[in-house]
Amino acid sequence: MYLKTKTNAFIKPISNIEKLHALLQEADAILIGAGAGLSTAAGLRYDGERFRRYFQDFIDAYHFTNMYEAGFYPFATLEEYWGYWSRHIYHNRYAAQVNTVYADLLSLVKDKDYFVITTNVDHQFQLHGFAKERLFYTQGDYGLFQCSRNCHAKTYDNEKVIRQMVMQQKKRCIPKELIPYCPYCHAPMTVNLRCDANFCEDAGWHAAQKRYQQFLKQHKDDHIVYLELGVGNNTPGIIKYPFWQFVHENPQAYYVIINQLEAYCPMQLAKQSLVIEKDIASVLKEIKAYVQT
Ligand SMILES: [Zn+2]
Repeated sequence: MYLKTKTNAFIKPISNIEKLHALLQEADAILIGAGAGLSTAAGLRYDGERFRRYFQDFIDAYHFTNMYEAGFYPFATLEEYWGYWSRHIYHNRYAAQVNTVYADLLSLVKDKDYFVITTNVDHQFQLHGFAKERLFYTQGDYGLFQCSRNCHAKTYDNEKVIRQMVMQQKKRCIPKELIPYCPYCHAPMTVNLRCDANFCEDAGWHAAQKRYQQFLKQHKDDHIVYLELGVGNNTPGIIKYPFWQFVHENPQAYYVIINQLEAYCPMQLAKQSLVIEKDIASVLKEIKAYVQT
């Protein structure tokens, strides 16, 4: 005896793309947590051909293999330090990037109550149209200088001087007169990056943190998607672990992780999770194509 049914009564398997699209559509709110993997997916690679294209002279001199390594190098003079860093900042923060990753992401969330917390410092969310008041850059911004001693809680826009440093440098060194110093204590300025205890959390940082906390509070019992994109294991306490905790505490919440290298979730969250081990750019493209069909 065979079970007979109309063909349209079958349950078809649902793809991750369909499921992700449905989750985002149905959500009241979306919290994006973004790490270095998102920048990489958008083409901002710190190694390989892109690194060689902009830093061949530094590679010849120091045998660096990527921008992380080069950024931590203790250059002997501030002229050379800023020779490196001005180019690093210019190419990762100010030069126009050609990619659709952020635009694709924005099109998915723009009609929702969304917020972004990111450990990235390249400012790409804001450059691609995400609302400034919906962003929290926890680890700083390449586009800001601060006092290296953090003697006062203020940061300074660096675009003009960074462009001058890039234009005027010779043999990896900027002219002495372009070296920035703190207007209060006269210590050298540095980039506003959280790499030691002297990171400057200025008024803008505190305001963004407050908005982030308000967003969490407002949606803690809602139908919310915590969307983790390209977060590595360097600082899991900022995005990954809190996201797990928020989902664990709210049966209406869903955890989505898209990560090409390390996509996983705790067993306890299996029923409230979607784990996609793929390149973020290709997943966003697939969703876009799915929506258009
Ligand atoms: Zn100072």
